[in-house]
Amino acid sequence: MNRRSFLKTLALAGTLAVPGAGAARAETGGRVELATLLDLSRCVGCGECVAACRDANAAKFPEPERPFPKMYPARVRAEDWSARRDEDGRLTPYNWLTIQTAVVERDGRELEVHIPRRCMHCVNPPCANLCPWGAAYKRADGAVRINDAICLGGAKCRDVCPWGIPQRQTGVGLYLDLLPALAGNGVMYKCDRCHQRLDAGQQPACSEACPMQVQASGPREEMAARARKLAAETGGHLYGLEENGGTNTFYVSPVPFEELDRAVAQGPGRPHLRPVADVMARDEAFTAAVFGAPLAGLAAGLLTAARGLARSGRGAGEGGHD
Ligand code: SF4
Ligand code: SF4
Ligand code: SF4
Repeated sequence: MNRRSFLKTLALAGTLAVPGAGAARAETGGRVELATLLDLSRCVGCGECVAACRDANAAKFPEPERPFPKMYPARVRAEDWSARRDEDGRLTPYNWLTIQTAVVERDGRELEVHIPRRCMHCVNPPCANLCPWGAAYKRADGAVRINDAICLGGAKCRDVCPWGIPQRQTGVGLYLDLLPALAGNGVMYKCDRCHQRLDAGQQPACSEACPMQVQASGPREEMAARARKLAAETGGHLYGLEENGGTNTFYVSPVPFEELDRAVAQGPGRPHLRPVADVMARDEAFTAAVFGAPLAGLAAGLLTAARGLARSGRGAGEGGHD
């Protein structure tokens, strides 16, 4: 990358990436925001969706370089899932969808409820609004993505996500080219709603693979109406419509979510099912988004340009690697 294209990248970043106050950093475009309805009464926990997600997204999974840079301060620990790629009992950089199972008692009998968990694709996603580098963003169709070419793996997105969804892999990404000991620690990964499949007019892989037709996708208002109707007709319970100010993932369950929340294993990579207040409605989050947005756009441009420079440098000196 020469000086002229470097400056052009900066100028573009400055003009394109400044969102409205408090609104998610989003691509422009006239597409309708899509939502997914999951009818948990239909899910048998077979895991076909998990396998399909891994197959469909395998090319996006990280291939870390070793040895990992030593981080300062030393308390910053590497997160390495590359030797545990088969782990599907939680979310990892190599597993963007996991099935939680709650065993509850109904009419004196045990009832299993299976809950496919992934990114909720929030309407006003704090991960996208508060990413300091502009790496996380929301598409016009509602899919929330993390740009792995820009992400430094600082995990702000995971810190501000009410469900702690994004997962970090160390030893990969832009931080290796910048300040490997001081800036970031890898790249964050999560469900990207199979954006390439959506662009090609296909269903997400998990939805297509499900033998029980648990998932249905469509325009948000339509799916919200269907979710409310299904809950009303079946005496079911709803999750995702109001959480975090609204998401694009609606669960309808025959069992109240407070009960499911108590019954599922929780911890890192195993999200809860509790009510969630709107993170972006908090004053400090709103302020950070408003003042951070132009800087994030500029930073994204700088980082993209830096990556180009680093690549050309490596290309001249080492023969390049990607
Ligand atoms: S494929 Fe369908 S039925 Fe099987 S675990 Fe996934 S959502 Fe449930
Ligand atoms: S669930 Fe978390 S990672 Fe997904 S869009 Fe919402 S805030 Fe972002
Ligand atoms: S939408 Fe795509 S990336 Fe997201 S969980 Fe389903 S298969 Fe995985």
